[in-house]
This record gives sequence, C-alpha cells and structure tokens, in this order.
Amino acid sequence: KGQQLTFEQHGLRTDLFSRNAVNVALRLQEAGFQAFLVGGCVRDALLGERPKDFDVATSATPEQVREVFRNSRIIGRRFRLVHVLFGREMIEVATFRSNHTARDAASGKAVMDSSGRILRDNVYGTLEEDALRRDFTINALYYDPANRILHDFAGGMSDLEARTLRLIGDPETRYQEDPVRMLRAIRFAAKLGFDLPPETATPIHRLAPMLGDIPAARLYEEVLKVFLNGSAEDSFDLLQQYNLFAPLFPLSAAELEQDPEYCTSLVRLALRNTDVRLAEGKTVTPAFLFAALLWPGLLPLIARCQAEGLAPVPAIQKAAHMLLPVQIQRIAIPRRFTMPMQEIWALQERLPYRYGKRAETVLAHPRFRAAYDFLLLREDAGEDTGNLGQWWTDYQFASEPDRRRMITELS
Ligand code: ATP
Ligand code: MG
Repeated sequence: KGQQLTFEQHGLRTDLFSRNAVNVALRLQEAGFQAFLVGGCVRDALLGERPKDFDVATSATPEQVREVFRNSRIIGRRFRLVHVLFGREMIEVATFRSNHTARDAASGKAVMDSSGRILRDNVYGTLEEDALRRDFTINALYYDPANRILHDFAGGMSDLEARTLRLIGDPETRYQEDPVRMLRAIRFAAKLGFDLPPETATPIHRLAPMLGDIPAARLYEEVLKVFLNGSAEDSFDLLQQYNLFAPLFPLSAAELEQDPEYCTSLVRLALRNTDVRLAEGKTVTPAFLFAALLWPGLLPLIARCQAEGLAPVPAIQKAAHMLLPVQIQRIAIPRRFTMPMQEIWALQERLPYRYGKRAETVLAHPRFRAAYDFLLLREDAGEDTGNLGQWWTDYQFASEPDRRRMITELS
C-alpha cells in the first residue's frame, strides 16, 4: 500500500545526503534488512535544503543493527535507538515501530498515562506501521537509496508540494499521545514557512497546557531546537499565538502580559539576533538565549527584592535564585548555562558602577562581552539606562589615558 515514487516522480536531490547515511541504509539492506532514510533529511532534501542530521529506519532490531556496525551504540529508554558513529558524524538508526494500542499498553511494551500520553514506546512494527506512527505527513517519507524509490504512506508528498503541515491520523489524539508534537508543529511551520491548516492549528490552543506535564529534560531539548533553528523570532510569535509560551516560561509569560511593549521587544530582538548569527554561521550560546527569554520573569522579582531593601546586585542574585528553581522544573537548563546566565544578569547591575577600578574589573570579567550585549539589548528594547551602552562602547575602544579621563568625568 501507499505510493512508490520513482526518481522521475520525486526528483530527490541525493547529492544533499551524507555519504555515511546512505551507506548505513545500504549496508543494512545488504545484511538482509529493510532500511530507508527517513524524516527530516528526506523532507529537507526534497525542499532543496541540505539536511543537518540523518535518520535511518530499519526492520533490524537495535541488537541486529549493533552487529552490522562495530562503530555503534544503543541509546535511550523511552525510545531505543542505535547511534552509528563516523568520526564527528552520527547517524541515528531506529527500528520500525507501530502505534501502540491499549492492548500493547497492557503487555507493558507501550505505556500510556491516563491522559493518553505515551510514556514508553518500544513496540516494533512494519514499515507501514512505522510510517503511520510518525507525527506529520511530510516527516513520513522513506527513501530507498538502492532502488532510488520514495515510499509515501501518508500523502506527505502532496502536502510538501502544498507547503502544508498535516498530522497523520486524528490531530487531537496525536497531540494527546505526545504533546511535544504541538511544539514541533510550531517549529516546522516557522522553519519551513509552511501553513498550519485549521485541523492542525485549532486543537493546539486548547491542548497547550499539556506541555506542562512533559519531563523537563525532554522539553529542554525540544525548546532548544525551536530557538536554534534559524527562525526563532517567528517561532516565538507562533508560540505566543498558540498559548504554548506560558507552559514553557510561566513567569516570563505573566510579565509579557504586564509590560508587553518592552518585554516583547526584548525577547524578539534577542531571537532576531540569534537568527542573524546562525544565518552568518556564528555560534549562539543557550545561556544568552535563556537569559533573554527569562529576563521578563526576573524583573518583578528584582523589584520585590529591592523593595525589601536589598542592594541592586544582591537583589538580582536573589531574584535569580527565586526564578531558576521554578523554571528548571519546566525546562531542564543545565548548570553549565544557568551559571553564566546568572553572571550576565548580575553584571547588568554592575555595569552602572564604574568609579575607581570598577570599570576595569567589570571589563576583565569573562562574561563582560555577553553582559554588554545584553545591556544593548535592553536599550534597543526601549529601556532608558542613561546611555550606559554608548559609554561602555566608547570605553572598550578608548586608550589608557582616555579611559582614565572617562572615569574622572563620571563624577
Ligand atoms: P529536524 O530537521 O529538526 O531534525 P526532524 O523531522 O528530523 O527535524 P527529529 O526530531 O530528528 O525531527 O525526528 C526524526 C523523525 O522522527 C521525524 O521526522 C518524525 O518522522 C519522527 N518523530 C520525531 N519526533 C516525533 C514525535 N514526537 N512523534 C512522532 N514522530 C516523531
Ligand atoms: Mg532529524
């Protein structure tokens, strides 16, 4: 069943594929298994984009895949996969799975909670079953590199041509099974510039709070993908529009309502900046990204701590200690990023104090550059800092004597 498209019909640019990914599928086929390139790599190549990672789907079990590739390891509990390693490149190989039913749940291989959410998912299946358990039709296209045939079981090809995002099966059920699919819908709509038709879009508004029940470690991974895919600004607008921002960043969401003009500008400018940097091939640190996304939520806490009589730097530090434990229950931002985030925030209150040797000390701080960029961001969003950003810009480029003069002129 399904459609089988020849090269003349699909025109897939296989030159966009990684040689290693193609070889993994071919070697599994030679070992007697079915194996296909699938998911984002097929979708992106059909759209003429070079895929950034590659997934292979196969009839071989993880153990059988391990036997074919010495350079591989089995990972994951919720979803067992094999990673095949080629130097720095990693190809993800997954065994065909079926969409579990209540019967599978009773057998313990697939586990669902009372809201219909899938907790464990290791029921193997056929190629066709594997296609139908995937999220969107455009993510369920399978490429067979030996025969150059594209398998389409869900109508993904015509949706790709129509540039529309459709879930496989009943949208509401599919979102309930795995609420992260709502985030994925937003991510693909923003990144690919695809349409969200009503049947894909409408259930999200209502089901959005279900994101609150997703384990924080998984949400961290998915949220990073949303904001590091080169379309972070559009993604943010869509998250807001579909009520998905609040379950992810509850404190920021509240302040975005209190002071929409400043907070929205600040977050959007930070995300636009991220998109530009990525387009230029530069790196983006999640620390800066989360520092900006959480800044709105931090503001009322800072005000509260200052009202209690704390000086500016201790107030911002205490506010961070109040906010982060709450936020980390939603999104498990690792310590290697929460530490620099707190430094970026605390430096915001140190940048105004420049007398004596303070300016030199702040300038030498390893997080100065990020903190200075953050200060400019606040100003660009409309905050009046008394031209502090310009002062620091001048100071960085000034000669030693000019720097000394700038400090004496402060008084
Ligand atoms: P990206 O370009 O961001 O890697 P992708 O579509 O490849 O996009 P992955 O997270 O790498 O996304 O997942 C690979 C494939 O696995 C998807 O294309 C989809 O077929 C399937 N998949 C991933 N997550 C889910 C999910 N939550 N529910 C159903 N299928 C999923
Ligand atoms: Mg992928």
